[in-house]
Amino acid sequence: MSSETPQDSPGLDEKQLCISCLAPNDPSAHFCAKCRAPLSSYASTGPVEHLFAEGTVYRQAAQRPRKFIVVLGVWLIFCPMILICLSIVGMVQEGSLALRIFISLISFAFIAICALMIWSSTRNYFSWRKSIEKGDLGMPS
Ligand SMILES: [Zn+2]
Repeated sequence: MSSETPQDSPGLDEKQLCISCLAPNDPSAHFCAKCRAPLSSYASTGPVEHLFAEGTVYRQAAQRPRKFIVVLGVWLIFCPMILICLSIVGMVQEGSLALRIFISLISFAFIAICALMIWSSTRNYFSWRKSIEKGDLGMPS
């Protein structure tokens, strides 16, 4: 419908394939339209975009961990964060009550997120392993 002339580009240049799901994407897209994985270097270096890029990494680590090392990495990243948040809550003894409540609320929200990451990553990994083992043994009777 457009006035594009395909003489130079044989089609492959017009679409970039997602490195994560292989879906064709617009060359100017920073993120995959299908799975939201970062496509460009801008996506991982842009001020806001790198947050989405990291979000994709963490989301995949939580939802589709395929190696135990990924689950282990999630534990190694988020357990210290939980400890840091707990120590922050423990350290806040001074300041107004409102400030202490505010800091505690933020810390506990962060702890909840970290715990959720650890929990979902670990659970999804082992449920995936279970389904693989079932699949190896053939059809469930
Ligand atoms: Zn994709």
